[in-house]
Amino acid sequence: MTKVYHDNESSLEPIMNKTIAVIGYGNQGRAQALNLRDSGIRVIVGNPKDPYAVKASEDGFCVKSIIEAVGGSEVVMVLIPDEIIPEVFKDEIAPHLMEGACVVFASGYCAGFGLVKFPDNVDVVMIAPRMIGPGVRDRYVQGLGFPSFVGVHQDFTGRAKDTMLALAKALGTLWSGGLEISMRQEAELDLFSEQGFGPAFGNLLMNSIQLLVGEGYPVEAVLMELFMSGELEYTLNKMTNEGVIEQMDFHSHTSQYGSMTRARRFAELPLREKLKQSLDEIRSGKFITEWTREQEQGLPNFKKLKERRLNHPMVNWQNQTRDAFHFHKVEK
Ligand code: NDP
Repeated sequence: MTKVYHDNESSLEPIMNKTIAVIGYGNQGRAQALNLRDSGIRVIVGNPKDPYAVKASEDGFCVKSIIEAVGGSEVVMVLIPDEIIPEVFKDEIAPHLMEGACVVFASGYCAGFGLVKFPDNVDVVMIAPRMIGPGVRDRYVQGLGFPSFVGVHQDFTGRAKDTMLALAKALGTLWSGGLEISMRQEAELDLFSEQGFGPAFGNLLMNSIQLLVGEGYPVEAVLMELFMSGELEYTLNKMTNEGVIEQMDFHSHTSQYGSMTRARRFAELPLREKLKQSLDEIRSGKFITEWTREQEQGLPNFKKLKERRLNHPMVNWQNQTRDAFHFHKVEK
C-alpha cells in the first residue's frame, strides 16, 4: 500500500538550528517561507534584487543573492518556475551547495525528467503541495494543512527522509498527509492532469456551451446552467467528501435517471484512447523534448495559442454573464 506520512511520524529535530534557504519568493516561495518561519525554523530568502525581493524584506526576511543564500544554508528549497530551474540550478545553485546539503523541490518535473544534474554529495527530496501557494499559507494559518506528494530522489547523508519529513511537518502539510511517490511519477501525474484530464474537461464544457448557444439559448442562461452558478463547484466538493457515486443521491430522481441512462453513449467515445495518447507523450519524454525546443525558440506556438485563447468569444460571454448577475457587486 502507498505510504502516507502524518504529523505524528515526524520530528522537527533534523532541521532545528539549521538555515533553510528559500530560493524564489513567488506563489510557493512566500507561502512556504512564512509557514517554515512560523514553525520556528530559521529561514533566509535567495532572490535577485527586484519586487519579489522587496516583498520578502517587507515580510521581515533576510534576503540575499541566490548564490550567497545557497552557500550559507544546510537546506535549499528551489521554488522558482520549473522552466527556469535547469539554468539557475546549473549556474547559481549546484556549484555553491555545501556537502550534505538537502535540495528540495516542490515539483518532480526537473529531477524526474533528468533536466538537472545533481552533485553526488547532496540529498535531493520533493515536497510537492497539491495546493496553490495562497492555499498553502491559508490552510497553515487555519491549522488545516494540505496534501502533498513527497519523495527522496537522492540520499547522500542517509538522513534525507528524516529531513524531508521534518520540512513537511514544518510546512504544515503532514496535518493533512504526505503521500510517497517518485519525482518522475509526480511529474507524470501533474502533466497528465494538465494535458489529459484538464483539456478533456475543458473541451466537454466548451462543446456544450457552443452547442447550446448555437441552438439559440441565451448565453447567460447557458453559462449559469453549466458552471457559473457555483453548483458545479459545490458538486465537486461533494464528490471529494461524499464520493463520486454517493453524491448522485443529492440530485433529483429525474436527474439520476437521465444521467444513468444516457451515460453509456459517452462511455463509448474514444476518450480513454485520447487520454492514453497524452500520457504516452508525457512518459516517453516526447512532450518534454517539444516544450524544451519551444522555449529555446522563444515560445512562438505558445504566444500564438495564448493570443487565440484571448480572442475566444467565451471571454465576452462570461463578462456579459457576470454583469447580468452583478458578480462584481456581490464580491464587494
Ligand atoms: P513563481 O512563478 O511564483 O516564482 C516566482 C519566483 O521565481 C520569484 O521569486 C521570481 O523572482 C523567481 N524567478 C523567476 N525567474 C527567475 C530567474 N530567472 N532567476 C531567479 N529567480 C527567478 O513559481 P511558483 O511558486 O508557481 O512555482 C515554484 C515551484 O513550485 C515550481 O517547481 C512549481 O512547479 C511548484 N509548485 C507550484 C504551485 C503553484 O501554486 N503555482 C503548486 C505546487 C507546486 P524574479 O522573477 O523577480 O527574478
